[in-house]
Amino acid sequence: MARRKFIVGTNFKMNGSRAFLQDLVENLNRADLDSNVGNEEVHPIFISPPSLYIEHVRQNLRKDIAVGGQNCFWKSSGAFTGEISAEMLKDVGADYVILGHTERRTLFKESDTDIGLKVVHALQTGLKVIACIGETLSERESNTTLQVLFRQLQAIIDHVQNLDLNQEEKWKDLVIAYEPVWAIGTGRVAAPEQAQEVHAAIRRRVGEICGLEVAETVRIIYGGSVNLGNALQLARERDVDGLFVGGASLRPEFVQIYMGAGRGEGYRTWYLLFKDILRNLDIPSSTASMFNLPVPRPHSAEGFVSQVGP
Ligand code: PEP
Repeated sequence: MARRKFIVGTNFKMNGSRAFLQDLVENLNRADLDSNVGNEEVHPIFISPPSLYIEHVRQNLRKDIAVGGQNCFWKSSGAFTGEISAEMLKDVGADYVILGHTERRTLFKESDTDIGLKVVHALQTGLKVIACIGETLSERESNTTLQVLFRQLQAIIDHVQNLDLNQEEKWKDLVIAYEPVWAIGTGRVAAPEQAQEVHAAIRRRVGEICGLEVAETVRIIYGGSVNLGNALQLARERDVDGLFVGGASLRPEFVQIYMGAGRGEGYRTWYLLFKDILRNLDIPSSTASMFNLPVPRPHSAEGFVSQVGP
């Protein structure tokens, strides 16, 4: 079974200018990133400037970092004023596209079906897709987190499963981003255990619908107020396969976030192994919390949301 390669992505949103992006590109070009960056079939790092600047960024950025768009339509061309297509993104050098971001869902009224259509069209065009799902604060507080996430996920899965490809081909370029809406741009990050709990639930759901192989290989990344202070803790969780960085990706600390969390796969493997061993030891919870060790947390499907609040 293929190992899930950790991925760190960004969302610049509607920010930047040629000059600003040029500085940012030069900063990334100078950075001493892990020598393995970009050597994999799937890029472990990508940046997403506004679409107008993608070509400029692609031409000037080191080639071991991928470039992505923040949205695209589900048609290749035609009378769709103001839209851009997946084909156009590819044409100017993008490898990725972010779809279903909460700002697209709420401000631009994109439905679950719109997002499903966009995801399959982008995949068919050969883009790698970051498909975002996430619950609002009121949904979390009313204990409907999983219901909301599973509804959003189902719309994506329904469209992807209809593709005339085998399971591996359908899923190889699709990354799911769990982005709790209450954590986006608020400075209020999900606790690592909260993220882990949701990621594990999403993976289980994918498994129920698409089979174990897909569930074990699909990457589920976390986004929402990731910064230098919390990235490593989040990255250590077993089902957190990457980070999606908004605000902090526009600051020089992004390189350090990547270096701290995205790199050191070997370290991460050992850490997870160590954590599992500790979990299986009979350590009293008082001792465990004194030393900040992992304690087994009982949770049922119903108990899930009420136990963890933002
Ligand atoms: C985002 O908008 O996708 C995001 C993760 O933003 P931030 O990191 O600023 O919360």
